Amino acid sequence: MEDGTHTRIRIDGSFGEGGGQILRSALGLSAITGKPFEIEKIRARRRKPGLLRQHLTAVHAAKTLTNATVHGDELGSKFLVFEPGTPTPGDYHFAVGSAGSATLVFQAILPPLLVAGRSRVIFEGGTHNPWAPPFSSIEKAFLPILRRMGAPIEARLEKHGFYPAGGGRFVVDVGEPSPLSGIDIDRRDKIVKRRAIAKVAQLEPSIARRELDVVADRLGFDRSELIAMQVQDSIGPGNILTIEFEDAAGSHEVFTGFGEVRRSAEVVAAGAVRDARNWLKADVPVGVHLADQLMIPFAMAGSGSFRTLPLSRHSLTNLTILEKFLDVPIEVQQEGRNAVVRFGGTPK
Ligand code: ATP
Repeated sequence: MEDGTHTRIRIDGSFGEGGGQILRSALGLSAITGKPFEIEKIRARRRKPGLLRQHLTAVHAAKTLTNATVHGDELGSKFLVFEPGTPTPGDYHFAVGSAGSATLVFQAILPPLLVAGRSRVIFEGGTHNPWAPPFSSIEKAFLPILRRMGAPIEARLEKHGFYPAGGGRFVVDVGEPSPLSGIDIDRRDKIVKRRAIAKVAQLEPSIARRELDVVADRLGFDRSELIAMQVQDSIGPGNILTIEFEDAAGSHEVFTGFGEVRRSAEVVAAGAVRDARNWLKADVPVGVHLADQLMIPFAMAGSGSFRTLPLSRHSLTNLTILEKFLDVPIEVQQEGRNAVVRFGGTPK
């Protein structure tokens, strides 16, 4: 079908990792290329398939930001048509209305937001949810890279929103639109700063101390590198552990453990420690989650590269979606178990 300028791109939502990532990436890419798409079998590989609140909020956010025409935008819908207009600057407010992840709504509309520029967006919902980038990793690992690529973007957390109560809020400010430039994040420099931060809201403070003990014990962090915090602004209980590293070149990585009912503090910490150790051992700058999140900004820049751990299904899925919308050559080079992803097709 034609919209006058572009053929509608057809997407099978069950391919690859078969979840919300396919939809989010398609929304962002459609919004910046003006290419309409239709997607069927949305989130077919998830226990509750179709559009949940988080995905529906992302669809409506992309619709609002680009003045798009949309069909199928209902809770539970497994089919959607999205025909974008032009990304438009403004003051926006998108609320998930549940503990659904607001950071994933941000992820979906980041591309048109960067193209539009001069905007302020308030996001409400979950800010520290399992299976989504916690606000801390967006603030400390993802956005600094975007700024190095030339994006005038800042984010500030106004209120924590933990699963299952949600109710968090953060604000994103984007300055004058400026095209992204590719950078090469090809090695990890000497680690110059490490921190582990354990936050608890409406839960026993000892949970944070126990998590930090695990980090001290297994990663050798000393007291000055451990911070326990009691979060006062959350409407519900929550717990999150972040293990943060900064290298001499100013790159950051963040690894996270999410507290859950019936999951001990020690188990929460062990998961984050394991992820941090894998990354430390692999001697790459970019971790698994950051890698899938960097795919679209690097493709928008049309150049640059990063070295990372073996690509996740999310990353591979993003690559497939990218190819449907953009012409940028992307090369994945295996280096032992690690991968170097190069954009723009000029191998060094
Ligand atoms: P759904 O179908 O429910 O929307 P999904 O499978 O598409 O979910 P997730 O697996 O929940 O999506 O992951 C979504 C995004 O969150 C990915 O970009 C992933 O890298 C990121 N993410 C998940 N966990 C973390 C984490 N601990 N730290 C940083 N990013 C994370």
